[in-house]
Amino acid sequence: MLNLVLFGPPGAGKGTQAEFLIDSYRLIHLSTGDLLRSEIAAGSSLGLEAKAFMDKGELVPDAVVIGMIRTTLAAHPGAGGFIFDGFPRTVEQAEALDRLLEENGTPISGMLSLEVEHQELVNRLMGRGLVSGRPDDQDVSVIENRIEVYNRKTAPLIGYYGAQGKHFGINGMGSIPEIALRLKETVDRLPR
Ligand code: ADP
Repeated sequence: MLNLVLFGPPGAGKGTQAEFLIDSYRLIHLSTGDLLRSEIAAGSSLGLEAKAFMDKGELVPDAVVIGMIRTTLAAHPGAGGFIFDGFPRTVEQAEALDRLLEENGTPISGMLSLEVEHQELVNRLMGRGLVSGRPDDQDVSVIENRIEVYNRKTAPLIGYYGAQGKHFGINGMGSIPEIALRLKETVDRLPR
């Protein structure tokens, strides 16, 4: 069983690299951003609540995303492993995830942390905004807020997983295949 946390600031390339990891290791992709955007598209009350936070570049409340993860994990009882993308984003979420996985007896194997320079993040997100239609990619002040929220609330998870010996920093600058290769080299050395 391989459970990966794909980590990094907004624009680090988590979604892009998740696609490659899913194919290579037959994992189930669990992106809280994608799940939240489906809720918005479906017009659910959860989606409506989440949208107000997302449009400002703020985090959706922990209880909402933890509930979503719990439901999705329960929906895949025989899975060979998961890739968590965009989750956890706070220490409270990481603690909840550890508890949920403990119930299943399948802990996190490793946290792959993509490292990308600030200006490159802004450039990538602005570029994506031209094609994605995502409201949070259209405005430079929202983008800067997302990066600031990441630095303040999410980056401390590097210490959280580091203390468990599970943090692996990966250089996220370069071409998509180059970065995919760096990830693969790290994943192949993880215990499972
Ligand atoms: P990015 O990594 O580019 O910010 P995501 O799709 O992961 O894109 O997230 C988009 C937005 O969805 C975030 O800015 C936040 O508002 C919300 N969101 C996604 N995942 C979480 C989470 N685990 N906790 C709280 N909010 C989240």
